[in-house]
Amino acid sequence: MTWPNIVITPGHTRQSPGAINKTYGLSEHEITKSIIEKVADSYIRKDRRKAGYNLIAFTPNYTHRTYGDCLRAKFNDINEMNPSLILEFHFNAVASDEVVGSEMVSAPDMASRKFAKYMMREFASYHKLLAPDNKARRLFLPRRVVTPQDLGRDIFILDSAKYPTNIVEFSFLSTDVIARQFMDRVFVTELAWHIEDSLFDYARHNLLGD
Ligand SMILES: [Zn+2]
Repeated sequence: MTWPNIVITPGHTRQSPGAINKTYGLSEHEITKSIIEKVADSYIRKDRRKAGYNLIAFTPNYTHRTYGDCLRAKFNDINEMNPSLILEFHFNAVASDEVVGSEMVSAPDMASRKFAKYMMREFASYHKLLAPDNKARRLFLPRRVVTPQDLGRDIFILDSAKYPTNIVEFSFLSTDVIARQFMDRVFVTELAWHIEDSLFDYARHNLLGD
């Protein structure tokens, strides 16, 4: 019997790293890659390899000429893994007074949306990792689940998804208080371990047979 595969992957590429925090010279690709490495580390250290599903941390380093070519190559490689769930990690760029928080962007199918709603609930517990007086806390609040259609935007990995696929957008990287929070290795490790717990529970209840 083959085990279901959960694929986690950082957004963007080394050459085209996404949002940048200018104060600290920190990129979206760089931080999401480090979160993913820590989630994978948690899966191994908690001995989930016996749990009946594979967690694949996929951080490719393509050298295709354009960003679009890298995305297509990535998408093809992930499809080859026959994943039961794909989760790509991102940060939004700019926070405003009206818009704060973390969100899930989901492919429009039922399974993708179900996972997105589950993760939004889990975010309420990640939010509690930050002390009430921490300025990053409000920015890290769970916000909403949307589809590319709701946003009126094309999002390649979601629009072409053959498997349940989601993007998590953690808060706002251009905000220094968030960048500093994600430079804190203890916080990132704790967050990654919580995310891994969430994936474990989801796999147990939704991907594994009895
Ligand atoms: Zn992004």
